Amino acid sequence: MSQDVALDHVTMRFGSVTAVRDVSLTIAAGEFFSFLGPSGCGKTTILRMISGFMEPSDGRIRIGGRDMRGIGPNKRPTALIFQNLALFPLMTVADNIAFGLEVRGVAAADRRRRVRELLELVALPEVADKKVTELSGGQRQRIAIARALAVEPAVLLLDEPLSALDLKLRQHMRAELRAIQRRTGVTFVYITHDQGEALTMSDRIGVMSRGVLEQVGDGQTVYDDPATAFVASFVGEANRFPGTVLDAADGRAAVDTPFGRLLGRNPRGLKAGDRAILFVRPERLAVAPDGTADNRVEARVSHRDFEGAFVNAFLTGAGDRRIVVQMPHLGSEPAFVPGAAATLTFRPADAVVLPPDGEA
Ligand code: ATP
Repeated sequence: MSQDVALDHVTMRFGSVTAVRDVSLTIAAGEFFSFLGPSGCGKTTILRMISGFMEPSDGRIRIGGRDMRGIGPNKRPTALIFQNLALFPLMTVADNIAFGLEVRGVAAADRRRRVRELLELVALPEVADKKVTELSGGQRQRIAIARALAVEPAVLLLDEPLSALDLKLRQHMRAELRAIQRRTGVTFVYITHDQGEALTMSDRIGVMSRGVLEQVGDGQTVYDDPATAFVASFVGEANRFPGTVLDAADGRAAVDTPFGRLLGRNPRGLKAGDRAILFVRPERLAVAPDGTADNRVEARVSHRDFEGAFVNAFLTGAGDRRIVVQMPHLGSEPAFVPGAAATLTFRPADAVVLPPDGEA
């Protein structure tokens, strides 16, 4: 039932703007795949090309192995859900869900059966006869999904569908969406600028910047092993230490930074003399035990934010650079008194050294 989506050197130009540049990837049948990136990075353009509302300037899109060139949106095995759901407000929920089936000439009894199944699927069996205006935001969201799934698409395309909801509901709907996707097995292609959504729901994420697909991987890979400075700075918080590579060997690079020599992983194979940024996540920094010789970061505490489960300490060091340390609140964490000096450290394995191009 579900199908794969293959993009082969897909480029989209609007006059002098290249909105999507040479993107190649295959989204597996039944996968929950998210395109993540800031506004204007080309996510919506990719979704429009998959759905058939736009043809690529170059390259090819295949769905279930079939070349989609020249095939219009209503002939593709896809359905699209937008941020503004475009439900029919004055129709009942059942009529909204059945709309696409009616257009396709499905008999009334079959429509009713399908509506019942879909309402079960989205866990709203009791709302069939209500008007859309009587539903909450989250319920409308689920009805929009039921309506999109009614016509049995092989691929469901979702364009920031949660962005209009408040935070609590958004978080709840993440789990709902994921559960619906698992139950149906339909391929979900989801676009968002919200990394939390992408990380919690997706099997894999494609991180985009300025029309370029920077990295594709599961959430943990993208977070732990960012391939570019853009990914390191866009996904999650990161402390950055810019400088020049002093020496590189055995998969590690030492960088001459305003804090002195700092050592981290060197996945891109940078060499002595290359410009670089060393990135360390706030939760991978810690107060240096006495006698620490390497990877010492001298700083001064500016303030400390108590978040309940976590404490964030904000420090400044060499040339007023801001440093963030995140610690679980176990009661035994260091005090980080404002104004006090602190020496921080990190393991080389917890830092990544990347070329500085295209930071977020
Ligand atoms: P957002 O999250 O703000 O929607 P996005 O990542 O989805 O951003 P796109 O909408 O794909 O980005 O736009 C990518 C680039 O292409 C932008 O620079 C945009 O201005 C441009 N663009 C998109 N559609 C058109 C169009 N129809 N004509 C001209 N330029 C366009």
